[in-house]
Amino acid sequence: MGVLRQLQGSAVIAVHLRERRVPHWSRERIEARRDARVQRIVRHAARHVPHYRDLFGDIGLNARDIRTVADLRTLPLLDRKQVRNEPRRFLSETAHHTLPQRTSGSTGTPMEVLHDRSSILANIAYGEREREVVLGLVGAGFRPRELYVGFEGSNFLKVLEFTTANARLPVRPRRRAVAMTEPVEDIIAAINEYEPHVLTTYGSFADELFRRIRAEDIRVALPKVLMYVGETLPTGRRKAIEDEFGIAVLSRYCAVEAFKIAFFCERRTGFHVHEDLCDVQIRRDDGSSAAVGETGEIVLSNLVNFATVLLNYPMGDLGSASAAACPCGRNFGLLSQIEGRIEDLITLPDGQVLHPRAIWAAFKDDRDILQYQFTQTALRRFELKLVTSDPTAFARASRRAERTLRATLGHEIDLRVDAEPELGRRERGERGKFRAVRSQVSRSAAGS
Ligand SMILES: [Zn+2]
Repeated sequence: MGVLRQLQGSAVIAVHLRERRVPHWSRERIEARRDARVQRIVRHAARHVPHYRDLFGDIGLNARDIRTVADLRTLPLLDRKQVRNEPRRFLSETAHHTLPQRTSGSTGTPMEVLHDRSSILANIAYGEREREVVLGLVGAGFRPRELYVGFEGSNFLKVLEFTTANARLPVRPRRRAVAMTEPVEDIIAAINEYEPHVLTTYGSFADELFRRIRAEDIRVALPKVLMYVGETLPTGRRKAIEDEFGIAVLSRYCAVEAFKIAFFCERRTGFHVHEDLCDVQIRRDDGSSAAVGETGEIVLSNLVNFATVLLNYPMGDLGSASAAACPCGRNFGLLSQIEGRIEDLITLPDGQVLHPRAIWAAFKDDRDILQYQFTQTALRRFELKLVTSDPTAFARASRRAERTLRATLGHEIDLRVDAEPELGRRERGERGKFRAVRSQVSRSAAGS
C-alpha cells in the first residue's frame, strides 16, 4: 500500500473525527442524518444491487419514496438463507476495494459479507464514539493499553490490518493480541506482563476467566475496563464481576453484518444504538414493531456499507428497546438487553476449556460446508452434523473436519460425522437462537 493511499485514507478519517459528538446531538439532528443515509443507501441499492433492483421493479415502488426509517421498515424482510446462498445478489455492482468477512459461527451458517473501503475507514472514526466512553473510565489524556484475547484470523484483527494498510491513524492505539486457544495460565501471564487498561474478549471467555481468577485466587493485574463482545455474558455475571473485582464491565454489539450497532456508555444502562449507522427494529413474530420493553427479534439495516447491502435483515438475536433517557446525556436510543448469544464452552478430558470459536475456526473457511452443528454429548464423545450441497462435498468436508477436530480435541475422542439435509433453523415464531456449538456436559461433571 502506497503513502498516497494512506493519505487518502487519513483524509477520510479526519473528516469523521468530529464523530465523537454525534451521540450527544439533538434527536432532531440525529434523525435527519439517519434519514438522509436511508435515502442514500436505498437509492444506491435500487440502482446497483440486483436483489433490490428486482424488488423495486416487482413491487412497482420508486426508491425515492423511501425517505425515513419508518418507510424503510415497510420493505420486505430479507431471507437469511437467500443471503447466504446467493451473496452476489446482495452485492453492489460498483463495489471494489472490499474487505470480505465471514460471519460468526454462532449461527452455524457461515456467510460472507463484503464491506467497501470507505465504510471501513469511516468505521475507525465511528469508533471514537465508543472510545470516548473507555477514555472516560480509564482516565483521559493518554492512550490506554488494550489486550485483545481472541483468535488469529478473527474479523476484528482483519479490520485492524486493513485499516493499518489503508490509513495513517491520528492516534495509533496501543494494542496487543493473545490467542484464546493458549492455556489460561499463559493468558494470565500475558495480562500480568502487559498490564492492560482494557481487556477485550468474548463474553463466555470473560465469564470463565474471572470465575477461575476468583476460585483459584490468582494474582492478576486487573484492567480498569473489561469489554466483552461477540456474545452476551450470562445474566448477573456482568454485575458480579464489577462488584467482585471493582472493574467496569462494558459491552459492544457488533457483527459482520454491521460493524457498529450499539454500545454501553459509562452508566451501563444498556446498549446505545448507533442510529445513524444502522436501523435496529425489534419485531414481533407477526412482523409488527414490538412495544418498548417487549422482547422481539432484532432486525437490522446497515446504512453505511455500500458493498453487501443488507436492509431489514433478521440477525437471529433477540432484544428489547428501552424508553429510558440515559443520564449520560447521549441521545441515541437504548436497547435494554440482547439475548441469545450465549455460547457453550467445551471442556476437554484434560480439563482445558475450549471456546466455540475454536470450533468455528475449523470450519469457517471450508466452502463445502453450508451449515454445521457440533455437539459434545459426553466428555470424550462428539457429534458433528454437516449440511453440504452434495455427497461429494460432504465426503471432502467431513474428511477435513475430522482431521482438524482431532488435532484440536485430541486423538482419543469418539467423533461421529453425519450428513444432514438441513439443520434446525430457527423458524419464525420460534424463540431462542440456534446453537452451532453445544455441550451437554456439565462443568462439574467435567471436574472443573
Ligand atoms: Zn448512556
